[in-house]
Amino acid sequence: MAEPLSTDVLILGGGIAGLWLNARLRQQGFSTLLVESASLGGAQSVKSQGIIHGGAKYALHGALTGASEAIADMPRRWREAVAGTGELDLSGVRLLSPAHYLWSPGSLFGNVTSFFASKAMRGRVDPVSGSELPPALQHPKFKGKVYRLAELVLDVPSVIARLAELGGDSLVAAREVEPLREGEALVGLRLDGREVRAQRIVLSAGAGNEDLLQRMGIRQPAMQRRPLHMVMVKAPGLKPLYAHCLGGGPKPRVTVTSHPAADGQWVWYLGGDLAEADGVARNEAEQIAVAEQELRQLLPWIDFTGAQWATLRVDRAEPAQSGLVRPDNAFLAEAGNLLVGWPTKLALAPDFADRVLACLARDGIQPGEHAPLPPLPRPPVAQPAWEALLG
Ligand code: FAD
Repeated sequence: MAEPLSTDVLILGGGIAGLWLNARLRQQGFSTLLVESASLGGAQSVKSQGIIHGGAKYALHGALTGASEAIADMPRRWREAVAGTGELDLSGVRLLSPAHYLWSPGSLFGNVTSFFASKAMRGRVDPVSGSELPPALQHPKFKGKVYRLAELVLDVPSVIARLAELGGDSLVAAREVEPLREGEALVGLRLDGREVRAQRIVLSAGAGNEDLLQRMGIRQPAMQRRPLHMVMVKAPGLKPLYAHCLGGGPKPRVTVTSHPAADGQWVWYLGGDLAEADGVARNEAEQIAVAEQELRQLLPWIDFTGAQWATLRVDRAEPAQSGLVRPDNAFLAEAGNLLVGWPTKLALAPDFADRVLACLARDGIQPGEHAPLPPLPRPPVAQPAWEALLG
């Protein structure tokens, strides 16, 4: 039988939440083990669009919501991290775009325009035109209004790779996880049969949290899944575009991000309303047909000859909310030595880590003495979703 191990904090799940937290804890001198059952980043994180929201999207109705306030500081924190001057050193991570854009194809803006010019939004949303427009929109036939948001877009595979580097020898692959108890108290986990004791255990396994909680006999917090049916298109002539295209509703009609494929072409990744309810109900061929029609209508000058199309189904995992309302912050709940949560957005991973660190500080948890780790199986880093589907 494998020798038992001990650590300060045992983290389950190596998506953005677990990896960011792990790096922060190690930086503060804690000993950690992060357990991943599949590939690092491979569930939601590398399938995300990589937008580091500052909340402007949620102000489309002309009112700042809780969401707008809570995530307003995330672009700054990530920008500093990517510049190598922030709370984590993410230098080397690829910044895909220093800004995300809001684009209205018609005259939809109406009173939203004056709201964007208001004090509340100053410095967060600026109108752009002419040569300042994103390259894909610079065409004589382009009509509409474009606003530049103070948000950035990151190449998530490079974020995951960098955080995996910062994780050093703390990352471990294991499939079977069982609770390790002393009396009623959870004192650690059994990972593929090996006992690991820890001062605190954090579940950051995304959709996997549901099953882990069930296996530990814990009912709360409940989780919700929000299914999405995303679309990808790769074509030789595509130029990068990072924009929410507004429709009439509260959500963007389509959100386009662009990702570099290994063959040098750009992949457009399409989310927003297109990928939600009606999109989820469509089969792959129908979803591609609708996406193609949307793009041809919105951007008739773009040549999709020879394009490769694919769709990707993925669930967003979040704490249960009434009416599937989008949560405003990273979410963390506690049950004794166990902490469980969801960042709810890639952008909010720093907020998730803050919440865990605050609990440790409140409980007076300090780095302890632990024997050096033996060699442990390391989980692989996930491949970008577009390489698997359009490679
Ligand atoms: P995940 O990335 O899902 O990671 C959980 C990890 O836990 C996985 O690696 C999984 O294999 C592992 N795991 C599961 N079960 C176990 C177990 N039993 N033991 C060990 N490990 C386990 N957010 C933004 O801020 N900006 C965006 O542009 C954006 N776009 C998105 C687009 C899409 C299509 C989707 C689906 C989400 C998007 N999001 C975005 C949301 C964002 O991706 C998620 O909120 C975030 O990635 C969740 O991170 P996580 O670490 O909690 O979960």
